[in-house]
This record gives sequence, C-alpha cells and structure tokens, in this order.
Amino acid sequence: MIRSVPRVSADQHGADQHGASHGQTLLLRASSITKTFRADGTAVSAVRGVDLMLGHGEFAAIMGPSGSGKSTLLHLLGGLERPTSGEIWLNGRRVDGLSQAKWAVLRRQHIGFVFQFFNLVSNMTVADNVELAALMGGATKRQARERRDELLADLGLSAKADAAPARLSGGEQQRVALARAMVNRPSLLLADEPTGNLDSSGSQSVLRLLTRAHADGQAILLVTHDARVASAAERVISLFDGMIADDAAMRPPRAKPSQRRPAPLPTVLRLRG
Ligand code: ADP
Ligand code: MG
Repeated sequence: MIRSVPRVSADQHGADQHGASHGQTLLLRASSITKTFRADGTAVSAVRGVDLMLGHGEFAAIMGPSGSGKSTLLHLLGGLERPTSGEIWLNGRRVDGLSQAKWAVLRRQHIGFVFQFFNLVSNMTVADNVELAALMGGATKRQARERRDELLADLGLSAKADAAPARLSGGEQQRVALARAMVNRPSLLLADEPTGNLDSSGSQSVLRLLTRAHADGQAILLVTHDARVASAAERVISLFDGMIADDAAMRPPRAKPSQRRPAPLPTVLRLRG
C-alpha cells in the first residue's frame, strides 16, 4: 500500500502527475475516500466516497449538519484515522497507508491540526503547550519562544501564558489549540470548528490570524458553522451524509496591502524580522 515514504524536507512542490491538475501543483488530494466505523456488530459509514483537491495556499471551509462526517473527514486528511478505502495524496505523495509514526513526523512539520475538543496537555502551562509543539517541529529554543509569544499576543492570550489550560474558558483553550497548531507555520492547517466556543472578539482574533496565515501562503481547511468564518474562505464545501453535496468557489478574499507580510521563507520556522 505504501508506494513511497514522504521526505519531510524542503521538497514542498514536488508533485507528480497524481498531484498536479491543470498545471497547478496540489497540496492535498483525496480520491474516493470512505470511512466505516464498526462497533458492536453495527457499521456506521461516516465518510462515503469523498473526492477533494486543495491547492497550495488555498483556504476552504467545510460546512454541514452535525453527524455529516466533517470531523471524520478532517481526521482522515490529517492521518489521525485511516480510511477504509480510497487514496490520500499530500504534495504528490501517497500517504493513506503510512504508519502512525510516519504520519506524526509529517504532521509535526507540515500540518497543523486543531481538534474539536482542543486536546491540550493539562499539566503544562499555556505557554509550554505552544512552545513544546515548536520544539518538536525543530525550532531552536529562542525561535520557539519568539513564535509562541507572537501567537499568544496575536490571539489575546499573553496574560494567560503561565496558566494551566483547565483555568481557561473554552474559548481561550480553543485559541491556545490554534496557537499550538500554527506555531510551526504548517503548509496545511486543518481545524475542526476553531471558533465554536468563541465570543465575537475571540472569533475576530482567530479570523484575523487565519486571514494573515492565508495571505502568507498557508493552506487552510476548516470545519465551521459560522457563516462569517466561512465567508473568509475562498471555497465552501458542503458535506451531507458523508458525501460532498456542494463545492462552491467564493470571491477570493484580499488582505489589505498593509496587512500583507512577505512570502514565507522555506524553513520550518522563521525568526521575526
Ligand atoms: P460531524 O463532525 O459532522 O458532526 P462526525 O465525523 O463526528 O460528524 O461523525 C459522523 C458519523 O460517524 C456519526 O454518525 C458519528 O456517530 C460516527 N462516528 C464518528 N466517529 C466514530 C467512532 N470513532 N466510532 C463510531 N462511530 C463514529
Ligand atoms: Mg465534528
């Protein structure tokens, strides 16, 4: 099943014919993926044949009713669950058959994942949760601290840096989970309802961060129920009953020139200029 072991190096655009479409390289391609859960002799088909392509730097939102398979789809695309059938290609390489260990390496360097229920490390401070992810992604201690402080400030969490996650509100924990997922500037951010627990000012800071990440060239695929968040995306994919019911291009959002940042350097982490 494993055709090639992905090299987690600078080869970000090495798509072969399986990852290329209309001359544009694809970041992610899922082909006819399904996921059936079996428990107590019953089978639940959570994802029932999804074809999906996402380009480098593309920002797409997934919407759909509860139970339609949104979280399962995101887990499949991030390698947290293995598909029952179908293929997943990342940067032109087939990844659906990779071991958990190989997926972990891939995620650490290329994919940020925000879980619906945060999954923060409870016995570490907010700051350490974010910093550890940076260190695991290969940052030096100094880079990890700088990036951590920058993200916590962007998300209005500086005052909570030394708190334990349990002392935070749901919305604050959700923003810490986003900071952790973004700390290695992943080429792909997969986020499961990242504003689901936020008040409007929290949502705005998350939206600002996502818009800037998108302007920086990071691809984003997020599940949301929030029309405002979805309207920031270039594309809205509607999931219904484990299948894509609609996939609509929106008018591409444009960041104001003053909000634009220089194109990202090809390293995992950049020092702030
Ligand atoms: P959504 O995120 O759109 O609410 P989910 O992907 O969580 O939907 O779930 C889709 C379907 O798959 C639901 O019927 C859910 O009960 C089922 N499901 C999800 N995860 C599991 C699991 N680990 N075991 C069994 N059934 C599951
Ligand atoms: Mg869900």
